[in-house]
Amino acid sequence: MVKAETDKAVAIQVDRLYKSFGSLKVLREITTEIRRGEVVAIIGPSGCGKSTFLRCLNLLEMPTSGKVYIDGEEITAPNVDVMKIRQNVGMVFQHFHLFPHMTVLKNVMYAPLTVKKMPKAQASQKALDLLKRVGLEEKADVFPSRLSGGQKQRVAIARALAMEPDVMLFDEPTSALDPEMVKEVLDVMKQVSESGMTMAIVTHEMGFAREVADRIFFLDGGKIAEDAPPDEFFSSPKSDRAQQFLEKVL
Ligand code: ADP
Ligand code: MG
Repeated sequence: MVKAETDKAVAIQVDRLYKSFGSLKVLREITTEIRRGEVVAIIGPSGCGKSTFLRCLNLLEMPTSGKVYIDGEEITAPNVDVMKIRQNVGMVFQHFHLFPHMTVLKNVMYAPLTVKKMPKAQASQKALDLLKRVGLEEKADVFPSRLSGGQKQRVAIARALAMEPDVMLFDEPTSALDPEMVKEVLDVMKQVSESGMTMAIVTHEMGFAREVADRIFFLDGGKIAEDAPPDEFFSSPKSDRAQQFLEKVL
């Protein structure tokens, strides 16, 4: 009984995850749990495997070995329905990846319509509600090319939320933005976190990580070298590598 209750509180469980590309060993034994509603900021030097780790959580990359569970279901099991898993794990990318030939509203409606077979009127209403939430209701009928980077990223977040995922992954969502647009996107992400969403965020925005994250993962050498609350991590990182990293980015 105790076990079932514990499991229910865990949104993401990673058990001895390894990922190599040919002879390049990128992730070397990652074991961790992320609880429901937790926000984890994943930081570390360029090329240390942050994106690879995130992509293993929704099977954009297939782990070389190890297991990943989302809501207690093993997504790395053979014959899983990859599409179904991705519905439950939303992802926001650095470069937005909006559908250029669809209006903003259609971008947000698309997955609920086609994957969830939601009736059109309902999908449209839902999309409008989400666009309102990210402050872009008035852009519903324009095409992505007419939006600023910050607006595009807010649409991408609305589009991911439209599938009502249990988990949201963000891979450097503000890294491609002009500085003046970073805040509007971080504000939306903060609002999503306040709604209780479980979030794993690769970011270089240390101020945001410190303010919004419950835990910081510092990735180094293919492992989670440090896993600590932000105040602890930023004020007294344990390893020299983390110390050096922080000296460069802060
Ligand atoms: P980060 O996001 O921390 O910058 P990545 O996860 O993108 O790092 O990459 C980690 C390492 O894996 C890098 O050396 C990168 O070149 C390599 N890598 C990532 N994806 C692939 C791939 N599809 N094929 C081969 N090597 C890859
Ligand atoms: Mg990356």
